[in-house]
Amino acid sequence: MIQAEVMTARIIDGKAVAQQTESEVARAIARLDFRPGLVAVRVGNDPASEVYVRNKAKKARELGIEGRELIFPDTMSEGELLAEVERLNGDDAVDGILVQLPLPQQIDPRKVIDAIDPAKDVDGFHPINVGLLHLGRRALVPCTPAGVIRLIESTGEPIDGKHAVIIGRSDIVGKPMAALLLQRNATVTICHSRTRELARLAREADLLVAAIGKPRFVTAEMIKPGAIVIDVGINRIVVDGKNKLAGDVDFAGASEVAAWITPVPGGVGPMTIATLMKNTVEAAERRRRP
Ligand code: NAP
Repeated sequence: MIQAEVMTARIIDGKAVAQQTESEVARAIARLDFRPGLVAVRVGNDPASEVYVRNKAKKARELGIEGRELIFPDTMSEGELLAEVERLNGDDAVDGILVQLPLPQQIDPRKVIDAIDPAKDVDGFHPINVGLLHLGRRALVPCTPAGVIRLIESTGEPIDGKHAVIIGRSDIVGKPMAALLLQRNATVTICHSRTRELARLAREADLLVAAIGKPRFVTAEMIKPGAIVIDVGINRIVVDGKNKLAGDVDFAGASEVAAWITPVPGGVGPMTIATLMKNTVEAAERRRRP
């Protein structure tokens, strides 16, 4: 009987790569003659948003950025938030503005994102930055997909010429991920909930990025032997009565097929915050030294 070769994937250590990025950011800040300013705005009490915003402001302060949280009640009106964004746009000490999503239902997130000065849009969600990214021009790039590029580069494997399959087409992850991989000369396939034969397409990927939001959606059978697998998913699940985090990839099964894989937690997550810090310093340098 012939036995299939079982591979043990090498782990892409997101924490280590994020630490490296953060030390680069801290060194860049030390060379500046000012402290870049980052303001994270939260409206309401979404528990996940509370943790994200607190962690972002804390990390900023650790690295020498003037990191502030602005917290507003969930009764805030759209007009009040737009006025607040306008005030931050005009505040010269503020280099980066991020408004944590989701927002309460009375506020249209598109209006708020459109109101942020593109030069301070460290999340890279403003239509100007989205357009520049898709044109391959200098832009502030969404943090999660930019962090994923850095993780892939950390493997030493070239992106050029690879077939990249991205599962998910959100504005925050899937679409900018596709633009970044295309810029680096990958052949890119984007899959979504209406894709036919998704498993077959996924199995053709040299580089598979899962950004779906469904725990362990990607199984070993969907992975090409030797592929690089990036798991963007963060899903809260309950195992034996305990809350746990699970990715969009079945890590145990996938590790026997892939050559490289990101764990959850400890993969893409830490890179997202590190990239936000990098974007803040970039925004500050460009704005203050155009
Ligand atoms: P999203 O806006 O909900 O988008 C999910 C995408 O997955 C959509 O394009 C959807 O297709 C597709 N999809 C859903 N079910 C599918 C199915 N059965 N087959 C194929 N495609 C399917 O989510 P997101 O904001 O991109 O986030 C995705 C995951 O990444 C979530 O778990 C989120 O928590 C995580 N995330 C992590 C980070 C991080 O820092 N690590 C950052 C952002 C997000 P349609 O477009 O057709 O509906």
